[in-house]
Parts: sequence; structure tokens; C-alpha cells
Amino acid sequence: MSENTENYSALWQEAIKQLRGEISDPEYMMWLNKLCYEGSKEKAVVACVPSKLILDQIKTRYSQTLEDKLEELSGGKKIVLEFIIKKSAAPEAKQEKKENSAAAEIKKTITQHSHLNEKYSFENFVIGETNKFAANAAIAIAKNPGRAYNPCLIYGGVGLGKTHLIQAIGNYIHKNFEDKKIVYVTAESFTNEFIFALGNNTIHKFKNKYRNTDVLLIDDIHFLQKKEDTLEELFHTYNALHDNNKQIVFTCDRPISELKYIEDRIKSRFSQGLTTNIKSPSYETRYAILKKKIEILNVSISDEIINLICNNVTTNVRDLEAALKTLVGYAELVNKKITPDIAQAQLRDFFHGSQQNNVTVDIIKRTVADYYGVSFNELSIKKRTKALSDPRQVAMYITRELTEYAWSEIGQDFGGRDHSTVMHAYDKIKNKMKADPTLETRILNLIQKIKENSIKA
Ligand code: ADP
Ligand code: MG
Repeated sequence: MSENTENYSALWQEAIKQLRGEISDPEYMMWLNKLCYEGSKEKAVVACVPSKLILDQIKTRYSQTLEDKLEELSGGKKIVLEFIIKKSAAPEAKQEKKENSAAAEIKKTITQHSHLNEKYSFENFVIGETNKFAANAAIAIAKNPGRAYNPCLIYGGVGLGKTHLIQAIGNYIHKNFEDKKIVYVTAESFTNEFIFALGNNTIHKFKNKYRNTDVLLIDDIHFLQKKEDTLEELFHTYNALHDNNKQIVFTCDRPISELKYIEDRIKSRFSQGLTTNIKSPSYETRYAILKKKIEILNVSISDEIINLICNNVTTNVRDLEAALKTLVGYAELVNKKITPDIAQAQLRDFFHGSQQNNVTVDIIKRTVADYYGVSFNELSIKKRTKALSDPRQVAMYITRELTEYAWSEIGQDFGGRDHSTVMHAYDKIKNKMKADPTLETRILNLIQKIKENSIKA
């Protein structure tokens, strides 16, 4: 193989990894596991197999899919597969005589699903008042896929454990139902794959992947707003799977009814089964979560410091975890035991929300406009339509909460309104939040997003 040709080794490994996630473990062990990378040629990957029989099977079963994957991963380059037969190629052949430890190793590797992160397990998830309904539903689904709650939608704000739970469902099923095919995908990746398939005439492959799975887990479906063609495809995928009692689980950052740019017929599908909500954890749950994370990290942090973090980081679990990791990282760096004073100093930014210092009205407007599907400029003008006044009032409320702006300054920024209009909007939203917990969740969620966008900015 010429030295000038590209080396497709990494591409190959990724293609195998992805394909592995799409087939069952026994199928993988039977065929794909027998395939080894041999080298690269001009626009070709050479793979070796241990026998003619296996070669024939692999050719008919996976050749085309592998070539498609290579093309997809290389950004549209046609890379063909060539095979050679080598007796020693099969990992099995090499390992035949090795005793149990090697077998255990294989067992260990097959228990990992390529789309899923093992750390997202039910064992690692702390159940409290605000997530118990969602967690119990997830456990029931994992124990009885396709039969318990189907479909299931888990919604809630940023960093509250949606991805953890949806992946825990996947991990559990993967470990306990060997023959079930599981696909986990974020709505964003689903969209990208769909667009790729359209552009490359591989839509049949795309359909094949998503309609032949036993469990479909789609994270963050709010991303699909305004993606009409992808939604249409998902609608058909949904129908095909649901008609065959295949399990579907979605997550979303808000209640489905709040997804303005998704047609009602599709929204009604998403919310056909069980809908559950996760809210911010209580003090006790935050404490238990930190204890759990400390146990996983295998570090020692005093209860006084745990208490300090729990009292100061209240909105979401991701921040809680980040605060803990900051401390642990610092302790390792200076090789010192963390005292409450050191913790205070190290976590000052978390506690006092240094992120908030970067919050600008522009970021607030952009985030709110994006959420409600209106334009940035529409929030800044004086037009009085219901569609605009709700997001505008929310944006004004958040501006007052997150910045030091005076009422009149906020009024100036939102279409030249006077200070009393802004005060009125602020009170109105505050009262509405008290009366309507979903609005409260939504606004807390928006505030979280604004803080994140401010850090990025
Ligand atoms: P989301 O998808 O809702 O934005 P994630 O699932 O990514 O949130 O959660 C953020 C982080 O917080 C993850 O590391 C997750 O493991 C952790 N987490 C959230 N809720 C819990 C919980 N109840 N117990 C343990 N860890 C949690
Ligand atoms: Mg998530």
C-alpha cells in the first residue's frame, strides 16, 4: 500500500463503532467482530476476514452500509471496501485458546453501546421529589420496553437530568435485553443525518436505521422547531415504530404545547403517551446528588462544604457538579485539603453568578427571541400584538432580574417605553409565574440559557 495514500484507519474505526451501535451484540460478535482493518489504498480500505464464509456474509450484510458510512464520515468521498482472507485475522482465532479473563474482556466491551455514555445509569441518578415521576417512568420503560409508557416525553430545564435519564433507559435495555437494537440521537444529529441522507441519495439507509430499531431515544426535540422536512420524516418514523410497539422516548426543554413552530398533528404524537416533568431539585436532593458525585469521584469533601455548595448553587444539577469539579480540581492542583474558606474563595464565581456580569440586554433579547420564535428586532419595537407582547414582557422581566438596569433604561431598550410600563410588565410576569408553574419553569430555563450564552459570548 503506497505511502502517499491517505490513512483511513481512524475513519474505519469510527464507521465500525457507529455500525456497532445499530446492530445487536450477538450480531456484532458473529460478524463484524471478525473484520479487521488491514490498510488503506487510494480511495479504498482493505479489511481482512478469517474465512470465505465470513467474507460472503459480511459482503452481503454490511459492505454497502460500511461504504456509505465511510462516505458520510469522510464528507462525501467515495471509499470502497476491499477484502483479503487471512486465517489469523479473527480476534476469535487469536484468542481461541485464551482462558476466561479474555472472554470477560469481550463481554465487557460488548456491554457498552456506542451512542451511550455509561456514566448515565439509574444507579448514578439520585431520585428526589422533583424528578421522581420522570425517573420512575424511565425505570419502568427500561424494564419493559415498548410496553410500559409509549411514547414517553421527559421535559424540563437545562441541566436537570433529561439526558441522564434518557441514556439510562438505553444503557439499561442494552445490558438487559441483548437482542434489542437501540438508537440514541440528539434531535440535532438526527436533523444533520437526515440532511446528509437527502443530499447523498441515501434516504433508504436513513429510514432503515431509524425504522428498524426497537428503542428510539431522541434528545432535545425542541431543536426541531421550524425543521419541517425533518419533522415530517420523524412523524413517519414515529408512526412506523409506534405501530410495531417499539419504544420511543423524547426529551424537550419545555412542555410540548410551548413548541410554537411544530404542527399540531406532530405535537399530538409527541405527547400521545406519558409526559413527565423534571424541576429544579430541592436542598435535600441537591445534597444527595453531591454525595453521590463525591462517591463516584472517590474524593473526600466535608459535609460543611457540601452544605455550602447546596446553599449557593440552587438552579440546576449541572452547575452543582461543575462547582464540585472546580473544587476537586483545585484540591488536586495544590495538593491540599479543602477548607470552607478555600471553598468560598474558589467558588466565588459560582456563588455570586459571575456569569451574570456578562449578561447583556442583547443576549437576553436574542435568547428570548429564539425561544419564542420571534425576531430580535421585533422585541425592540413598539408594536402591540399579543404574539410579541408576551415574549417582550418576559424579556423585560429577565432583564430586570439579571442586570442592574433602571426601569427607564429597560424601557429605552424595548422600544422606548416609559418606566411604568416596564414595572407593570415585571409585576405581571412575576404574578403569572406564581400562578403558573410551567411558566415559572420556562422562565427559569430561559434564565439558565441566558447565563450559558453569556459565558459563551
Ligand atoms: P439535561 O439533559 O436536562 O440538560 P443532564 O442530563 O445533562 O441535563 O444533566 C446534567 C448533569 O447533572 C449530568 O452530569 C447528570 O449526570 C447530572 N444530574 C442531573 N440530575 C441528576 C440526578 N438526579 N442525580 C445525579 N446526577 C444528576
Ligand atoms: Mg441534555
